Amino acid sequence: MEKTRCLIIGSGPAGFTAAIYASRANLQPILYEGMQPGGQLTTTTEIENFPGYPNGIDGNQLMDDLRKQAKNFGADVRWGVVTSVDFSISPKKIVIDETQTIEADTVIIATGASAMYLGLPDEQKYAGQGVSACATCDGFFYRKKDVAVVGGGDTACEEAIYLAGLCNKVYMIVRKNYLRASTIMQKRVMETPNIEILFEHNTVGLTGENGVDGADLIKRKGEPDEERVHIAIDGFFLAIGHKPNSDIFKPYLETDQTGYIKTIPGTPCTSIPGVFAAGDVADPVYRQAITAAGSGCKAAIEAERYLSQNGL
Ligand SMILES: Cc1cc2nc3c(=O)[nH]c(=O)nc-3n(C[C@H](O)[C@H](O)[C@H](O)COP(=O)(O)OP(=O)(O)OC[C@H]3O[C@@H](n4cnc5c(N)ncnc54)[C@H](O)[C@@H]3O)c2cc1C
Repeated sequence: MEKTRCLIIGSGPAGFTAAIYASRANLQPILYEGMQPGGQLTTTTEIENFPGYPNGIDGNQLMDDLRKQAKNFGADVRWGVVTSVDFSISPKKIVIDETQTIEADTVIIATGASAMYLGLPDEQKYAGQGVSACATCDGFFYRKKDVAVVGGGDTACEEAIYLAGLCNKVYMIVRKNYLRASTIMQKRVMETPNIEILFEHNTVGLTGENGVDGADLIKRKGEPDEERVHIAIDGFFLAIGHKPNSDIFKPYLETDQTGYIKTIPGTPCTSIPGVFAAGDVADPVYRQAITAAGSGCKAAIEAERYLSQNGL
């Protein structure tokens, strides 16, 4: 059976940064890219807040550069999805694509997070035909059209403002009678003339023969004045948060209610020695490329320490 001193799961900023540090420390890491090579940043265009790029950088370019940098130092970057793990033994066992098992002295989990959906059957029915969880990726297809954004937090406001620059009209469908977003984001939304906020509305279904042409909503659900509302839209954008990709680790590692892997505060160390968690999968607060990269660096340094302390 193949064995490695350091196995990294995930190819976002956390995984590749861990791979850069681990390979420079001569750990000869193996990194599995997973189902989304390059991670979440490959779904966006311009990144303006990653330090070192005064003019911004394309998300795909940044991730290609990180991959190259990791490979240049010797990281073994591979295609494949980790489908199960066994952290009850040392070395740990990791199964790739349900077929191949690898043993690893240390494991760095950098599996990130995925967009959340409402759970309506219509979201699947119209996937790629009007339903999207990424305004930056798909907004272009809805130029001069009417769209809706679901959610009331900062992300929903950002997506609505972005879409308002492209589309004719943007509805924000908000369950509560207020926005959860920061004051500055609320102000920007309120000041955007082609955004209309539908407070206290829930989506119950989508309509359309060839792709989405509308959404069925319920206003003030469960109240005496409950009302059914139909809006005509071509695009339905989800902006209700993300789910950490931690399911396969849950039998071994503690997570919070949402599924974020718990680490010792300020470190990437989990409750299992030799297993580390970095990036969005363990970060319910910051969820940024630079914080993910920073924690990937910490995870590789901790992996190196664990190996040397245990003579591995
Ligand atoms: C549209 C959009 C725009 C954004 N814009 C910015 C921005 O401008 N600035 C900023 O700082 N941040 C931005 N972010 C947030 C940023 O993308 C994330 O904080 C960052 O990508 C998190 O990095 P990560 O390495 O933790 O995980 P991710 O980037 O989520 O990558 C996770 C990786 O894990 C892999 N993976 C998952 N499960 C498995 C498995 N079982 N086996 C193997 N691999 C697996 C995936 O394939 C993926 O490669 C944006 C996010 C989105 C969605």
